[in-house]
Amino acid sequence: MQKLNQLLLHPSRQVGADLIAWLGAGGGEGLLVAMENPQSIVPTLQEARLGGMGGAGFPTWRKWEAAVNAQSKNGDRYVVCNANEDEPGTFKDRYLLEHTPHQVIEGALIAAVATRANHVILYINPHQTESIAAVSEAIAQWHAHELFEQLETHLGRPLHLKLVPTSGRYIGGEETAVVSWLNGGFPFPHRKPPYPAESGVADEPTLINNTETFANVPHILRNGAQWYQDLGIGEAVGTKLYSLSGDVLNPGLYELPMGTSLQSLIFDYGGGLLEGRAFKAVFTGGPSNTLLTAADLDVALDFNSVRERHSSLGTGAMIVISEGTSVVRKVSEYVEFFAANSCGQCPPCKSGTFQLARLIDRVDTGIATGDDLRALENLCQILPGSGRCGLIDGAVTVLKSSLRTFPEEYGLPPQTGV
Ligand code: NAD
Repeated sequence: MQKLNQLLLHPSRQVGADLIAWLGAGGGEGLLVAMENPQSIVPTLQEARLGGMGGAGFPTWRKWEAAVNAQSKNGDRYVVCNANEDEPGTFKDRYLLEHTPHQVIEGALIAAVATRANHVILYINPHQTESIAAVSEAIAQWHAHELFEQLETHLGRPLHLKLVPTSGRYIGGEETAVVSWLNGGFPFPHRKPPYPAESGVADEPTLINNTETFANVPHILRNGAQWYQDLGIGEAVGTKLYSLSGDVLNPGLYELPMGTSLQSLIFDYGGGLLEGRAFKAVFTGGPSNTLLTAADLDVALDFNSVRERHSSLGTGAMIVISEGTSVVRKVSEYVEFFAANSCGQCPPCKSGTFQLARLIDRVDTGIATGDDLRALENLCQILPGSGRCGLIDGAVTVLKSSLRTFPEEYGLPPQTGV
C-alpha cells in the first residue's frame, strides 16, 4: 500500500528527538533556505498553496503575510504551534510531536524567521505526556548543540523558544482561547476580528498554526512549491494526515495525497468495514461537520471538494460507522461532548448544548415525545451563530445533518428533518 514519506516515513522522520540523526538525514535544510532569503518564504508558501491543517484549510501564506504586515506595539511578535488537539477522532498532531519533534520545531522557527518573531511557543496538551517529553528533549538538544544560539546570531536578535502546556480543555485549542490562556487568563474564546495574526498575545502580532501545518513547511522550503503541489491528486496539493477510526478493519494514521477519495481511504487503506458490514456514514474532521454518506464515497478528500458536499475536511479525522451502528447514539455522544466542553461564557451555547444533549438522549433511550423532536428541531434553527466561537455551531451541524440524513432513526418520516 502506497504511503507518502513527507511527514511520517522519511528517514529524518524516524529519529525521534535525536538531533544529530535528524540533521544527518536532511533535517534543518528548510530552515537554512529560509535564513538565506526570508522574503521568499511567504511567496513560496503562496505558490505551494499550503492550507491550514487545523481544520479550516485557510491559505497559510495569507495568515503569515498578515503577521508580517501587522504592527508591533512593544517590539514583540509571537509564533504559536497549536498542539492542543482534543477533538474526538483526531490523533495526528501528537504522533508528529512524539516521532518527529524537530520537524515541527523547524517549521515554527521558519515562521519566526518569516514574521520576525522573537517568541516561539509550542502549546501542547498536557494530557499528551509523550508529546511533552519528546518536545522537551528536542528543545534541550537544540540548545545542547547550540543550533538555536547560531540562529539567534544569524538573525541578530534574541529568540525565546518555550513549551507551554495548554489548559487541557477542548476549547483551549480555539485560537482566540489560545491567546486568552497565553495572556494568563481562562481559555475563553472571543470574537474575531481582530485575528490573532493582527493582534494576539499581549496584543501583539501572533501567528498561530496547527502542528501539521508547521510540519509541512520545512519540506516545502527545501524541495520547492512545485514539488509540494505535485504530491496532491488533481487540483489538490500536498499530502494530508487522515486519522481513520470507527468500524474499519485497519484504523490508524495515514499520510496520503490530498485528494485521495473517501472510498480509497476506507476500503484500500482502512481495509473496509468490520465483519464485512455495509458502510453507513462518516463523521468528518471530528464530530462537528455534516455527515458524509454512501453517496459521498467518491468525494476527493481535499478542502474544496469536501466543502462542495456541504461538509468540511476539518482536521482529516474520519470516524466511520457501519450499518448496525446507531447514528443517534454516536451523535448523542458527540453532543454530550460539546455540552461538557462549552466554556459557559455564552448562555445560548451553555444551555443550548445541554438541552440538545438532553433531548437527543431521550431519542436514544426511546422515550422522546413529538414535543421533544419539535424542540430539537427548533433549537437547531435558533442556536447557530449564538456563540463567540464555533462550538455551538458544530454541535448543531452534526445534529441537523443526522436528522436530515437518517430521519427514520429519530422516528421521523423521510425528508421531514430540518
Ligand atoms: P476560521 O475560518 O475562522 O479561520 C481559519 C484561520 O484563518 C484562523 O487561524 C484565522 O485566524 C485565519 N484567518 C481568517 N481570516 C483571516 C484574515 N483576514 N487575516 C488573518 N488570518 C485570518 O476558522 P477557525 O474558527 O479558526 O477554525 C475552524 C475550523 O477548526 C473548522 O473547520 C473545524 O474543522 C476546525 N476545528 C478543529 C479542531 C481541532 O481540534 N483541531 C477542533 C474544532 C474545530
